[in-house]
Amino acid sequence: MNARAYERLSMEGSLRQALERNEFHLHYQPQVDLRTGAIMGVEALLRWERPGHESVSPSVFVPVLESSGMIGQVGEWVLREACRQNRAWQQQGLMPVPVAVNLSAIQFNRRNMADTISAILAETGLEPRWLELEFTESAVMHDTREVGNIIGRLDDLGVQLALDDFGTGYSSLSYLRRFHLDKIKIDQSFVRDIDLDVDDAAIVTAIIGMARNLKVAAVAEGVESRAQCEFLRAHGCDGMQGYLFSKPLSPDDFAALLKSGRTLTL
Ligand code: C2E
Ligand code: MG
Ligand code: MG
Repeated sequence: MNARAYERLSMEGSLRQALERNEFHLHYQPQVDLRTGAIMGVEALLRWERPGHESVSPSVFVPVLESSGMIGQVGEWVLREACRQNRAWQQQGLMPVPVAVNLSAIQFNRRNMADTISAILAETGLEPRWLELEFTESAVMHDTREVGNIIGRLDDLGVQLALDDFGTGYSSLSYLRRFHLDKIKIDQSFVRDIDLDVDDAAIVTAIIGMARNLKVAAVAEGVESRAQCEFLRAHGCDGMQGYLFSKPLSPDDFAALLKSGRTLTL
């Protein structure tokens, strides 16, 4: 217990300096269209090179950023950097794709969220349609007017909205009806055994059907095998993201991939 508390404190201390020391960077993982095999988007994923340590997963350090109040500042850096990078790729003549940025529930529920995003878009020159915001069900768990207002304002800005880790949160589906979403991302825990487990297969099939009826795109996360990909395609899933096509890449490697025009072999 003490060792863990100490480790957390020490991590918090290191995180406080990480922004100034440029220890954060972003990796980019492509999403591919399951009908054409072409790249349809990219997700920005935060990376931290903590000096003297092995690389730390964002699922470990993001919660520390959240509990220590640093997520606002770091989250803003992520948004600005992803928008700047996407704009730079477009200016280099690469095929334009939307860049998805993960928002923590804490960021999401901030009143000035939409203003911040609007300012970052203006500053970087990125058109709103090339930015997608990913948030989880827990961020919209309290289906209040406040949350509705925030989503409405983001929608008005013209950015894309995606619900991440779909199926793992509180299964109040009312927000699907109330909010205008562009995409739901089927959590990788359902995708993992999709070709082996009948229950997972049934859940994923149901999510794809629901998404289609609601006219929301369905994208599967964590697709690693051909068999998973075939299942998703056969059931009409719109897109996928996962190691089968590509791991998260450095900005240069992602730009090279986009330039190469490589598609998923279908
Ligand atoms: P997420 O948004 O659901 O991101 C997908 C995660 O799945 C990424 O983990 C990605 O590397 C991993 N992944 C992708 N394809 C595969 C695959 O085929 N197999 C497996 N096993 N994993 C795959 P990562 O980068 O470690 O990020 C973990 C989580 O940390 C993210 O889950 C997201 O919730 C959070 N996160 C990452 N970047 C940010 C950020 O900038 N801000 C916030 N608030 N959270 C972030
Ligand atoms: Mg995500
Ligand atoms: Mg996810």
